[in-house]
Amino acid sequence: MKVAIIGGGASGMACAISLRRKSKDIEVTVYEKLPRALKKILVTGNGRCNLTNESSSPECYRGDAELLRHALEKYNYKSTVEFFDSLGLAVRTEAEGRVYPASSQAASVVSVLMNEAETLGVRIITDSPIKSIEAKNGSFVLNGKYTADKLVIAAGGSAAKAQGTDGDSFKLLGALGVKYKTPRPALTGVIIDGFTKSLKGIRNRCEIALFENSNELWRETGEIQFNDYGISGIPVMQLSGLIGENKNAVYSAVIDFLPDFDMQYIEGFITRQLSDTPSKSAEVMMTGLVPKALGNYLLLEAGIRKDTALKDTPAANIERLEKIIKNKKYVGLTPRDLEFAQVTAGGVGADEINPETLELRKHKGIYVTGEALDVDGLCGGHNLQFAWATGRLAADSIAGE
Ligand SMILES: Cc1cc2nc3c(=O)[nH]c(=O)nc-3n(C[C@H](O)[C@H](O)[C@H](O)COP(=O)(O)OP(=O)(O)OC[C@H]3O[C@@H](n4cnc5c(N)ncnc54)[C@H](O)[C@@H]3O)c2cc1C
Repeated sequence: MKVAIIGGGASGMACAISLRRKSKDIEVTVYEKLPRALKKILVTGNGRCNLTNESSSPECYRGDAELLRHALEKYNYKSTVEFFDSLGLAVRTEAEGRVYPASSQAASVVSVLMNEAETLGVRIITDSPIKSIEAKNGSFVLNGKYTADKLVIAAGGSAAKAQGTDGDSFKLLGALGVKYKTPRPALTGVIIDGFTKSLKGIRNRCEIALFENSNELWRETGEIQFNDYGISGIPVMQLSGLIGENKNAVYSAVIDFLPDFDMQYIEGFITRQLSDTPSKSAEVMMTGLVPKALGNYLLLEAGIRKDTALKDTPAANIERLEKIIKNKKYVGLTPRDLEFAQVTAGGVGADEINPETLELRKHKGIYVTGEALDVDGLCGGHNLQFAWATGRLAADSIAGE
């Protein structure tokens, strides 16, 4: 049997290795658009590759629950660790269950996968973007010249086009008449209309809550990074994929700039400063709470000049400042473009794919894996976990297990 895999990324390579391990009679060829396979892996986890997560469970994902359930039931975090152990990669678990290679280098993940693929005789044809799929007498012809009995579409999603993924999976699937949910950016920064440029480069531990109309969708605490376009950082990335899901809704975010201190503490702090050091400037007082640029921004929002002495600051503005510190609302939110996103939300769902086999319902012999599926995970290794799992699940189905 000849199997063609479109895309030499995480799920494509996991699928290729699994197939050749099952049977040397299965001829496996990976067609990769870029000059090398697994390029994206090198940039994952800030160059360290957070390859799975100890607490990987359906709650760590959004999208099609059926697709997710079958893939994770068969191949969970433990089996990913075993898979990499079988490739000769030791892993280490860090904070929040994040699993990394023992070397802390993503290049190690690429190295063991490529070595195994080569040892097993997987053919990898690089610089080969697949642009067309034609079904002919029960087999498939790619780009009018490469033939295969079974086909795996593992060409990823539409996020991070610099890493080779700009939506080719969806173009190929669309040409086959397969329906999919419009790809949207997930795990990315959020643009805020009219956001100040004065905070660029500042980081601060904050709590952020996202609302769709008046419904709270997500709440998370962690370090927020302020940029000229808006905000980023893990808490922001986690909620970015939810913005815009409902076209008719208004999305807003509320930031608490000092989540470790309650309102009572903030009020008490400011009252003490007022009585103990009435001549102190508002700017100096704020440096006792937050980074200087953030303090000046919050003062401006509260209508207080930074050089005003505390004793000369109207009580109404002080009250406003306290509210803004704990509860600043932003409307006009948009996730950054797909090219800046780590992951794609949307994709092919269980209506078009059998979740147990990952085979297309309308086209027998064609399987879809990884980010092209309508599942996206939170930060922490969940997306690669899903990619390895679906690559291996497709291999089982092709090999008839
Ligand atoms: C900066 C960054 C950091 C990330 N960090 C993490 C992390 O630490 N942990 C985590 O779990 N997830 C992380 N992710 C997400 C994770 O890398 C992806 O979800 C995962 O790689 C998806 O696997 P995949 O097999 O679906 O596709 P990909 O790994 O994206 O591979 C798809 C492959 O297909 C190729 N291709 C595309 N079109 C064609 C075509 N027409 N013909 C042939 N080949 C084609 C591409 O070049 C690519 O090599 C990160 C993503 C980015 C961008």
